[in-house]
Amino acid sequence: MTAASLSVSGLTVGYGPVQALDGVSIEVPEGAVVTVLGGNGAGKSTLMRAISHTLGFSGGAIRGGTVSFGGQRLDRLAPDRVVATGVVQVPEGRRVFARMSVADNLRAGTLGASGGRRAAARALDRVHELFPVLKDRAGQVAGLLSGGEQQMLALGRALMAGPRLLLLDEPSLGLAPLMAKRIAEAVREINAQGTSVLLVEQNAALALGVARYAYVLEVGKVTLAGTAAELSGSDEVRHRYLGVV
Ligand code: ATP
Repeated sequence: MTAASLSVSGLTVGYGPVQALDGVSIEVPEGAVVTVLGGNGAGKSTLMRAISHTLGFSGGAIRGGTVSFGGQRLDRLAPDRVVATGVVQVPEGRRVFARMSVADNLRAGTLGASGGRRAAARALDRVHELFPVLKDRAGQVAGLLSGGEQQMLALGRALMAGPRLLLLDEPSLGLAPLMAKRIAEAVREINAQGTSVLLVEQNAALALGVARYAYVLEVGKVTLAGTAAELSGSDEVRHRYLGVV
């Protein structure tokens, strides 16, 4: 394992009596895009919250297993310390601060980041290059952006923290196909600039087009794993997730 790889091993998570993950193991090698596919309720968001160690906010808890990044145990750190290691989550539903301006939303992304002012200025340039609309709309309140633009803002805010690994929870959810494609291109670009990505998606075609490795999660368990090319060719993935009959 290289320095900045993520390793989830035997992870078991519950919400009270509900067991949401059961012995899940996944790896995100440094520099890779890895996707976790699964239907509604499979446990995808739970996996993301367990990695960012924000489960407590939704009443969940890790019952077994480990989460490590670059050899450091994330499951023993407070959520803000997880961000400081370089692991940054973009939650499902792109929760931007609707009443704050686009610029202030981006600024909020630097809270908890380890770099100083210069790093923040560089990160802002990078975000503006990736999503020019966020520069054009800097003074506008975020709640007035379209769904796709809000997803760009949520991604941009996460990039402001200078992530080494980005956790993306359903970035294409609710977006028109063209906008979903634009987001997928942005994920590719972010990865090309050196950030590893763990992407959970219901849109399997989009995710497999971006990822190098893929896992299928069903009712809290990993049922398939392989390269994205292998999974794209699997009958089960084609039938269940790509809609091929
Ligand atoms: P979706 O795509 O619908 O968000 P998902 O794959 O992300 O689904 P999770 O949201 O992780 O799935 O849910 C996994 C299981 O845990 C489901 O059975 C769900 O009902 C349960 N669950 C999720 N959040 C909670 C919670 N806060 N309290 C109780 N049970 C929960």
